[in-house]
Amino acid sequence: MAGYLWQKGWAERNGGNITVNVTAFVDDEMRALPPISEPRPIALSGSSASSAIGKTLPHLKDAWFYCKGTGRRMRDLARDPMANGSLIRILPDCARYEIVADAPVAPTSELPSHLAVHDYLLAKGSPYRASLHTHPIELVALTHSRKWLEKDAATHMLWSMIPETRAFCPRGLGMVPYMMPSSVELAEATIRAIDEDYDVVMWEKHGVFAVETDIMNAFDQVDVLNKAAQIYIAARGMGFEPDGMTDAQMRELADAFGLPK
Ligand SMILES: [Zn+2]
Repeated sequence: MAGYLWQKGWAERNGGNITVNVTAFVDDEMRALPPISEPRPIALSGSSASSAIGKTLPHLKDAWFYCKGTGRRMRDLARDPMANGSLIRILPDCARYEIVADAPVAPTSELPSHLAVHDYLLAKGSPYRASLHTHPIELVALTHSRKWLEKDAATHMLWSMIPETRAFCPRGLGMVPYMMPSSVELAEATIRAIDEDYDVVMWEKHGVFAVETDIMNAFDQVDVLNKAAQIYIAARGMGFEPDGMTDAQMRELADAFGLPK
């Protein structure tokens, strides 16, 4: 999947992040492995006293995660996942983690916000185990116009480009206004958007944050949405505003597929 991000042109330099809850794949032999790092705090250095993020994440007790390494490139991770990512386990205090892997690669600086999302998902009983942040070009371009920042304006336009977008991204595209990257505020706004029942959340003038059952499904949702944005742009490039499928046609799909929205 990291290789796809690079091929798509969505992962310049060290852009983007992956975290996957791999607890279900951990056996007793793995649990017995010694850590190769000292315990490290999960907390965000800038987290405020009022923030729920960066303190303890009670649903992550003894959970294991694969996460991209800090400063690492997706294209390198695709070739050598264990040299460019970390396998970590959350300690019983739910406030610290340790690295259990081949090499002591420090996890992404976005670890606290990604883990806060995973904590939220587990608390909710969600089957989602993967989170993805990336910079899909056409979707990001949309957010440079106020028109598409209105709630569900982009969702309805993207859904109407081809039936598959409606069917395979049935919760649409959440929208979070511009906030400082890595900030607690951005992480909290992202969780609120996921809680409003979006699988893919757009960060204005930055990128997307997607959650799904596994990392390939997270990628697929972003890929399908970005394809729809490309079709819209292609039509505009031909000099016209695309008609889009009608509301009745999209409702027909929702009924036929039993879609959640
Ligand atoms: Zn980013």
